[in-house]
Formats: sequence, structure tokens, C-alpha cells
Amino acid sequence: MQNKKTAIYPGSFDPVTNGHLDIVERAVKIFDELVILVADNPEKKYMFNSFDRKNFIEKSVVEFKNISVRTHEGLLADYLSEKKIQIVIRGLRFVSDFEYELSLALMNRKLNGQIETIFLAPREELIYLSSTMVKEIASFGGDVSRWVPECVKTALKNKYSTRKQ
Ligand code: ADP
Repeated sequence: MQNKKTAIYPGSFDPVTNGHLDIVERAVKIFDELVILVADNPEKKYMFNSFDRKNFIEKSVVEFKNISVRTHEGLLADYLSEKKIQIVIRGLRFVSDFEYELSLALMNRKLNGQIETIFLAPREELIYLSSTMVKEIASFGGDVSRWVPECVKTALKNKYSTRKQ
């Protein structure tokens, strides 16, 4: 029997956007199993805690039986070694992503020689989209419905309305 091909899509997902979900939909067609790994880095400041970030993704991918969502604190390379997974998915938008993404891919490979990173490009209209931009638009009361799932839109609304009080 052939082994199942599993890939990991790691990221901050603070919060998940339709750009991330576009990459998820592409990856899930290529691999048998996809693990979305929500990074919990104590050095990084997130708007949403890892529980919420994971929850938003879970709600957005319920229809996929071959996707699981996990959180992880620590090195991605260690997680991959422990789970015996070799393929990492990352999204590429602009040339500006490229330098960071390439250095990350090479660093991960240095830490664990088995790791291969695969870059996927989103639909053209999502290429400008980032979690940072969505947070900025929401902070000024702008409508983010076409960029994020409903649960994220609601959470952003709540976050900014409580902040203003
Ligand atoms: P990180 O902090 O690890 O970069 P992000 O949540 O910002 O986490 O992004 C995770 C991955 O998703 C990265 O590879 C990033 O380039 C990709 N990504 C983010 N937004 C988009 C988008 N709109 N289209 C395609 N890929 C994206």
C-alpha cells in the first residue's frame, strides 16, 4: 500500500484570511492529508491567542475531512521530525515575500535535511491580502467581509468595539 502524503501549512494566521484559505484549497488537492499548524511563538505579539486562531481556521475548513488544525510552540523543524512529515507549504504573493520565504525554507532544511518547502500562489485578487491589512481596515471600521471568513469578521468587530470603549 502506498504511504499517505501529508503536508504541513504553518503560519501565524492572525487571523486567517481568504488568502490563506485559497492556499489551503490548493494544497489539499495535491496531498492526501493537510495539517494547518498555528504557530504560538512566545516572542511574537498576536492579536488573537492560538486557541482563537485555531478555532477560526477549524470553522473555515469543516467541509474538508483530510485537514486537521494544530497549534505548536517551538521550532517547525522539530515538529516535522517528530511527526515524520517532510513537506511544508507556504504561500507566495510578491517578490517581497520571496526573500523571507526562501531563507526560511533553507533554514528549515539546514535544521532537518528531509524538509522540502513547496510554494503556492493564490488567486490573483488575493495577492494583496495579508492579516495585517485586514486588521488595519477593521481598526478603522472598514468592511472586511470579502477578505475573511464570517467568524473572523465578527471577532475583529468585537475586538475593535471593546478596544474603543
Ligand atoms: P507567518 O507569520 O508565518 O508569515 P502568515 O499567517 O502571515 O504567517 O502567513 C502564513 C503563510 O501564508 C506565508 O507563507 C504567507 O506568505 C502565506 N500567505 C499569507 N497571506 C497570503 C495570501 N493572501 N496569499 C497567499 N499566501 C498568503
